[in-house]
Amino acid sequence: MGFAPPPVEKLIEAFAKFPGIGKKTAQRMAFHVLKSNNEEAVRLAEAVMDVKSKIINCGMCGGITTDDPCSICSDPNRSDEMLCIIEESSDIYAFEKTNSYRGKYHVLGGVLSPLDGVGPDDLNIDGLMNRVNNNMEVILATNPSVEGEATALYISKLLKEKGIRSSRLARGLPVGGALEYIDEATLVRAIEGRVTL
Ligand code: ZN
Repeated sequence: MGFAPPPVEKLIEAFAKFPGIGKKTAQRMAFHVLKSNNEEAVRLAEAVMDVKSKIINCGMCGGITTDDPCSICSDPNRSDEMLCIIEESSDIYAFEKTNSYRGKYHVLGGVLSPLDGVGPDDLNIDGLMNRVNNNMEVILATNPSVEGEATALYISKLLKEKGIRSSRLARGLPVGGALEYIDEATLVRAIEGRVTL
């Protein structure tokens, strides 16, 4: 149990649930909120509410957006002939930061993981199959983890049955690493060096 008054403890506990935030950092964050003026605190509370009430999933790619279809899917300057398959919406931002990918995305919403009970029906794979065509190159950009590799292999087989080309990000990405933490230069090299499956 903590020593701070209950409302402060409650905020510390909430911050401590964030990935990578330990109890000590959570404490500093909570005391920062306490010290900040009302306006700042309200802005923080509203921002938290807004992501829950205003964000939806794009009906086409599954990415997060306020408008459906999202700005990437509806961008006429982006190629429809290249489709990058990723695990989570947050991976879109890893690719966008490189400024070198001008195709579109498809968010699976996870990876195949039999041990956790996640099968093909739990992922946005049907949506993918409805989107793809023979003029497309599909880049399988799931994370280089065991599950990510298995998912890429599974999808590449489905694509092959439809006669659709697919490629996998080049090796050299740290095994078990998450795309969102990989620096832009490494990710650009991985896209450029992708290998046909
Ligand atoms: Zn979209």
